[in-house]
Amino acid sequence: MSVKKGDIEVFLSENVFVGLILSSVEVYKKECFGLLLGYKTPNKYIVEHAIPYQSARRGHKWIELRGDKWKIIQEVVHHFPKLDMLGDFHSHTMYRDVRADVVLSEEDVVDMYPDELQIVLAVNEFKRSMPWTSNPDQTISGTINGFHFKIAAYYLPSEDTDEDKRNPNTLYTARINCPFFIG
Ligand SMILES: [Zn+2]
Repeated sequence: MSVKKGDIEVFLSENVFVGLILSSVEVYKKECFGLLLGYKTPNKYIVEHAIPYQSARRGHKWIELRGDKWKIIQEVVHHFPKLDMLGDFHSHTMYRDVRADVVLSEEDVVDMYPDELQIVLAVNEFKRSMPWTSNPDQTISGTINGFHFKIAAYYLPSEDTDEDKRNPNTLYTARINCPFFIG
């Protein structure tokens, strides 16, 4: 699957940003996995909650949530009319001496559906300190307390978008906007 730069923006609130960071350091060096709730406009995903899955099986590779629980989560979210399930987040961590990056694995994309948002955090140990910044590849990155984080967002375009975006084998990156850290 190829990855292109998309023109959709992902807005992360302060509590989402903190949630992503804390979820990923809590289980480090294992991967965390969670749910993104919020709403979508034609050009933006507004993420309002990042909620870690407590029953996800955690491992170095992929983690999954089993069917029944997933169904219950969907049903419960339906009772909050202002919130939609936007997608998932998960972390990638250092494996032996291989540093983690934000590239999605095949398993990460196999179940993605149109319009779904996937946020990936690459977490690596890092001794120096680097300020948080937006990068040309639409990710954000920086250090906190001995960890370097890089956060990327991906989506599959929905079927009703522009002709050239209909290729089901193309995944797009969304530009992360997180005013909490980056002015
Ligand atoms: Zn992954």
